[in-house]
Amino acid sequence: MTEYFPEVADLARPTTLLYPRAGRPSVHASSMGGPLLWPADEPWPHCRAPDHYRPLRQPVETVGPEAVALVPVLQLYAREVPDLLVPTGSDLLQMLWCPLMHPPSHAPSPVLRWWRTSDIVMGPLLTQPPPPWEYDEQCVPRPCVVHPTRATEYPGWDLPGELGQVVRRHSAEIEETLGLSYWDAAVATQTKVGGYPGWTQPPDWPVCGCGRRMEHLLTVHSREPAMGDPWLPEEDRVGSGPMWRRPVAPDVEPRIGPGLSLGDMGGVYVFVCTVCPGSPYEHRYDCALEDLQHVAAPPGRRAEDRPFVPVTGPAPGSGQRSPHW
Ligand SMILES: [Zn+2]
Ligand SMILES: [Zn+2]
Repeated sequence: MTEYFPEVADLARPTTLLYPRAGRPSVHASSMGGPLLWPADEPWPHCRAPDHYRPLRQPVETVGPEAVALVPVLQLYAREVPDLLVPTGSDLLQMLWCPLMHPPSHAPSPVLRWWRTSDIVMGPLLTQPPPPWEYDEQCVPRPCVVHPTRATEYPGWDLPGELGQVVRRHSAEIEETLGLSYWDAAVATQTKVGGYPGWTQPPDWPVCGCGRRMEHLLTVHSREPAMGDPWLPEEDRVGSGPMWRRPVAPDVEPRIGPGLSLGDMGGVYVFVCTVCPGSPYEHRYDCALEDLQHVAAPPGRRAEDRPFVPVTGPAPGSGQRSPHW
């Protein structure tokens, strides 16, 4: 990349792409939508948001006062995911979310839990978490094994203004010869850890209460690279010619991704402050603005009011054993 775009060399960031593939993950492995390593005596988290809702639910708008069990989204062992930020003393990150829409972002609401694995495995494990009694199918990931793969990213939407103009001119020239632009290769729009958020709208980095810009911890995205995408790994392709033009292997294609559809194939970006005690975190959600009218909304809300509204994550739970990073 820097061979073609030396001007962005200083902005390189490491990322670990997760490449979820439908499978049967174990509680002892990193996974997406898979079973969590969870102590039997630890209460399972529930969402009690008064106004969360399932799109197109009939006949009532909101789900009601009964708490909804969260569903596993990601389980990441630090030993398997090189770019994972974990507080000192922790080696496991779990992300769950309530599989319903939550105003004002109109996205699932993520909850993070950091653990020390040795604290969990000393006692009995939970074998069957409670299922949510109500959910939006498009927010429940199917069980996937993950294939953590390191890569280097460069800013896309996050490119500083003047540099953006230089890169844009340069990219047009290179695209004519390579058939691949800077934007195709700079940032991966898929589920990943670290790197740059694969924004589909202008960047909106959250700022912590301490005044620091939070760090991008991970992205959960509806999209995964498939046919025609330069980020699809070589081992998932067949044929010959330039790697990024080879088609997907037929046996791989049906297993790609967790089957999420957040809004109109949008992403949820999770950010954390690694300085403040308690590891405060927030999330952002975006999807293509022009497609918003296709996202079902409760009566009385306009589509234009929706996405990209900052949402503060809930206070860290009791599962956080180590407040400092
Ligand atoms: Zn909820
Ligand atoms: Zn902070």
